[in-house]
Amino acid sequence: MSEVHKFLFDGVPVRGVLVRLTDAWTEILRRRASVSGAYAAPVQNLLGEMAAAVTLMQSNIKFNGALVFQVFGDGPVKLAVAEVQSDFGLRATATVVGEVAPDARLSALVNLNHEGRCAITLDPKNRLPGQQAYQGVVPLSLDADKKIESLSQVLEHYMQQSEQLETTIVLAADDKVAAGLLIQRLPLTGVANLAGASCTREDEIDSHEDYSRISILASSLQRDELLTLDSDTILRRLFWQEKLRRLRGAPGDALPHFLCTCSRERVGKMIVGLGQEEAQSILVERGEIEVGCEFCGAQQRFDAVDVGQLFSDGIKLPEMGPGLH
Ligand SMILES: [Zn+2]
Repeated sequence: MSEVHKFLFDGVPVRGVLVRLTDAWTEILRRRASVSGAYAAPVQNLLGEMAAAVTLMQSNIKFNGALVFQVFGDGPVKLAVAEVQSDFGLRATATVVGEVAPDARLSALVNLNHEGRCAITLDPKNRLPGQQAYQGVVPLSLDADKKIESLSQVLEHYMQQSEQLETTIVLAADDKVAAGLLIQRLPLTGVANLAGASCTREDEIDSHEDYSRISILASSLQRDELLTLDSDTILRRLFWQEKLRRLRGAPGDALPHFLCTCSRERVGKMIVGLGQEEAQSILVERGEIEVGCEFCGAQQRFDAVDVGQLFSDGIKLPEMGPGLH
């Protein structure tokens, strides 16, 4: 079963989350393999790290809606998406064109010419009229010469920019597990205010030292350990000298699980978005409009009658093309 563990360090303004995706992750891979063949290992590992990362971030900020992490690549990976809902319903997919070298690093996958970028979108569940989703765009290069080679570093930059909180992230994935560890330094002013005191320069220095120490411990976590050890063992090995306090979830709390939010209604809206002329020309050519979901593999088919209904409400039905008599 996939797991999320949240924890604090007593007396220290640092919090953390450890995520291990097992069944939720293998279900994503199984669906992909059955529809269009398995990913090359480097793509699989990238997507797994993205799935672990969105789960870490969702657990950390508890956003009521979809948290979507997209990578727009300029290498063989054109697009990679991982998306998590507030109940930890999770889906992910990648579009790959061309060959992927077995040892391809991040830049070889998505940032060959410094044109790769990624975006993190927070899409509220019950959007008010006129309300937009919030999107932060994150570069994959530090400057013109220096490409970032780890997804965790990309996300650490994002957290620093968006939340102004120092964050340490470790990610790893293979064909069975996608896992991640997040450690974050909390604002000291909030902690001091709770205690009814103002924060001094010494407090600030102590806090920085505490965070640095815990961050270094977190960063020492190796890929193999993150993928193969159980959560209790990982936390004990890393933080046995710290006063770590686990936050137990409520009994009914959802665990990460595979969930696709696609629907026939959404595909219908997409077809309407194409416009009647375009929809008609696809019908003429193929007899029906068939749209497969990239995330779960579900196929939605719309024949001429279905498409006609989509465009009804005063719009006349599309005329039958020569192939459809
Ligand atoms: Zn789907």
